[in-house]
Amino acid sequence: MRKHIILFGPPGSGKGTQAKKLEAKYGIIQISTGDLFRYEMSHDTQLGLKAKAYMAKGELVPDEVVIGMLKNKVDASPEAKGFIFDGFPRTIPQAEALDQLLEAKNEKIGRLIALTVSDGELINRLLERGKTSGRTDDSNEEIIQNRIDVYKKETSPVYGFYDAKGKSSSVNGVGTIDEIFNRLCEEIDSI
Ligand code: ADP
Repeated sequence: MRKHIILFGPPGSGKGTQAKKLEAKYGIIQISTGDLFRYEMSHDTQLGLKAKAYMAKGELVPDEVVIGMLKNKVDASPEAKGFIFDGFPRTIPQAEALDQLLEAKNEKIGRLIALTVSDGELINRLLERGKTSGRTDDSNEEIIQNRIDVYKKETSPVYGFYDAKGKSSSVNGVGTIDEIFNRLCEEIDSI
């Protein structure tokens, strides 16, 4: 059975950093919807153009756009040992679509792991990242605050969606990268 994990948490909680380390340790593939959109944008594709205005404001890209892109990505790697979903699902309809997609392959999500970090710490981290990342959504405090608000309103219910199936857990997202990584590995090894 393939191992599929959702790495969950607000913007700036460290999902991308940890997903890359988990990918190396467990041989499961990271799928970051944010990275995929940035790639599409940098190549001026139709998909990139569709996403651009939403991302610049810190709003969510419409579900049908994200779900279509995600499905293509999953179907493109049938040989993968599993996936780490990073930045997806961000809404309940996205979670439902993900479950359906996996169910059609007789597979399912093993666990959702949420990284918890305070709002103040998130804003500091994102502003710091904005100095070097070239990401315009990281350089403006108003846009960052909007992303955190959108996370609380639209994304945080996804935790409860998987908690109702006994699949959600949280780990402390503050500490050194290795400390946090070890906390995540403990969770994954217990699946
Ligand atoms: P962060 O984790 O720092 O918020 P991401 O790189 O995951 O950043 O996402 C950046 C932006 O891309 C989001 O603010 C949103 O506009 C868009 N995006 C990424 N994933 C999704 C998704 N699953 N649904 C809707 N929009 C998304």
